[in-house]
Amino acid sequence: MFKKILIANRGEIAIRIMRTCREMGIRTVAIYSEADRYARHVREADEAYAIGPAPAAQSYLRIETILDVAHKCGAEAIHPGYGFLSENAAFVDACEQAGIVFIGPPAEAMRLMGSKIAAKHLTQTVGAPTVPGYTGESQDDEVLLKEAERIGFPLLVKASAGGGGKGMREVHQPAHFLEQLAGARREAKASFGDDTVFLEKLIIRPRHVEIQVLGDRYGNMIHLCERECSIQRRHQKIVEESPSPILTPALRAEMGAAAVRIAQAAGYVNAGTMEFILDSDRQFYFLEMNTRLQVEHPVTELVTGFDLVRQQLLIAAGEKLAIAQEQVSQRGHAIEVRIYAEDPEHGFLPSTGTVNTFVAPEGPGVRVDSGIESNDEISQYYDPMIAKLIVYGEDRQAAVARLQRSLEQCVIFGVTTNIALLHAIATNAAFHEGLTHTGFLDEQHLLTARAQQAAPPDAVLIAAACYDLSSQQIPSVAHNPWQSLGPWRMTGEGYKCSYTYQEQTYRVTLRPQNSLQDTWAYMIDAGAVGDVAYKRGNQPFFLLTFGPLQVQLSVQQMQGHLHVNFNGETYILGRRQPPDIDSAAHGGSTANAQKALTAPMTGTIVKVQTHDGERVEAQQVLVILSAMKMEHAITAPYDGRVRHVHYQEGAVVKGGAVIVEME
Ligand code: ADP
Repeated sequence: MFKKILIANRGEIAIRIMRTCREMGIRTVAIYSEADRYARHVREADEAYAIGPAPAAQSYLRIETILDVAHKCGAEAIHPGYGFLSENAAFVDACEQAGIVFIGPPAEAMRLMGSKIAAKHLTQTVGAPTVPGYTGESQDDEVLLKEAERIGFPLLVKASAGGGGKGMREVHQPAHFLEQLAGARREAKASFGDDTVFLEKLIIRPRHVEIQVLGDRYGNMIHLCERECSIQRRHQKIVEESPSPILTPALRAEMGAAAVRIAQAAGYVNAGTMEFILDSDRQFYFLEMNTRLQVEHPVTELVTGFDLVRQQLLIAAGEKLAIAQEQVSQRGHAIEVRIYAEDPEHGFLPSTGTVNTFVAPEGPGVRVDSGIESNDEISQYYDPMIAKLIVYGEDRQAAVARLQRSLEQCVIFGVTTNIALLHAIATNAAFHEGLTHTGFLDEQHLLTARAQQAAPPDAVLIAAACYDLSSQQIPSVAHNPWQSLGPWRMTGEGYKCSYTYQEQTYRVTLRPQNSLQDTWAYMIDAGAVGDVAYKRGNQPFFLLTFGPLQVQLSVQQMQGHLHVNFNGETYILGRRQPPDIDSAAHGGSTANAQKALTAPMTGTIVKVQTHDGERVEAQQVLVILSAMKMEHAITAPYDGRVRHVHYQEGAVVKGGAVIVEME
């Protein structure tokens, strides 16, 4: 076995690989960009080397530099994790030339399966089904349009080199085909440097079910059953589970055998995944192969009991696969959710910054694979995943209940997260029934319903008021409360605090109930009343007691706002200032904001579809911005006229920059 390996990755996957290495007595070498100098994966490695500036192209993707480090430190092998160089066949070649073992498949197998078109062709030769479509050589617009008409609409334009949902466009009618084709090509070129596309019939309400395979150098190949990853946003997985609620033992065996056949035909070695989609008749079709360890591999580890990274290391070190197909079975049920620093209510835009507080859930059947700890950064340069929460239960129902409980226990302050959305999924009736498909979030209105949330729970408002009260020097302020700019005011009836949440104002009054001031009578607006006591725990915990009843929340103050976390949901409460300050702060700015359309994040303008003076309609796409390798449309918020477009195609704009002025 290797004595020392280099991990050519960062974040949670680098740490996850290090854990297994440590158990196997293998020393680990981390590499890091300037942005990651103090990142957790660097702190946890045995050795760490700087490899360049923050942008991945100048650090985590620099083959020569990484191989130099491997040589210098005496690493015998490199684990690529997922993303970055993990599916780069030139890197595999370079490792071989440098005499360093690449922990993954041979370059030829990777190259073959890295082309979705070639992979589909190979799949057809072993008699496994693929989605009907066009995978021909011609990339001519006319030919593609003709083929599209033959296949029929709706269909998908896909990038042959694609991954991560990039370079993929749905087309619902012929009139939109050429425009979507151009968009898919642009995105594919920017992301993969290859704009070859193919066409596929769009399967309606499909489930995404994938099979994990494992093969050694001696031709032994097994599968480790399936993972269902149907709950997706923008064609990217956010919830994964095993077993799939829909697979029968017969179908599992059939799909498993097909996956093994495809992998063998490709000459595949090490861990890989065959992705399939299932239509509503449970007919399965091969989509593509991922020639690496997947983000969602832990669910397979929990139900099969095998450590996939350990298997990868054993295979790469030249050992024979020690697991026979008959030894593989699924026990219990595992579910993974991906906790992202992103805002589901605003098109899933990444939310970068410092995670001031990260309290991970604990308890039986709970595994958290995370790349960060409290006070770590989510940087704009890399994937904004904070952690993977993986739960295990003896059956699906137990696992779902555990998922719900764990999400409620998870506290993250400092960046916007998708935890509330994940919690809404975990408590959704259709999810409980296992009725998932790739359009699940839309169908269940889990994105829109969340935006129109009701008032915050009483406990949240009471906790906010008690927190503010406990942060004040009560005796001195009580002398002259009007000198304080704090959120509360002392009146004859007690302390009054006002909070704003989603443009509504809530007034909370607290009145001391005894001389020790440890019990307070509260009143919310003119409604809820009762007695409460509070205790500040270890940051960020805050305990409210209503007689014997206890409610634990987390509270943190940030940039003048109070962030209160309760049952997995974070409520950001504004504090109302005295009337004069309030109006000064808001005067005029709202009107301006509506006139100026700004860049949601730093990126490049790839298309300007309007010009100064043009009359435009609400929702019309004016400008397309490419950021984090995805395209974001900037649309007219109302019917109106474009006063001025501030940038031309090709310009790089900062997040928040005014791109179009409307009137
Ligand atoms: P990528 O490699 O970019 O992730 P995939 O081919 O793996 O692209 O597809 C990603 C997701 O897109 C799938 O999980 C599925 O939800 C959806 N998808 C892909 N192909 C089809 C299809 N032909 N019909 C319906 N949905 C599809």
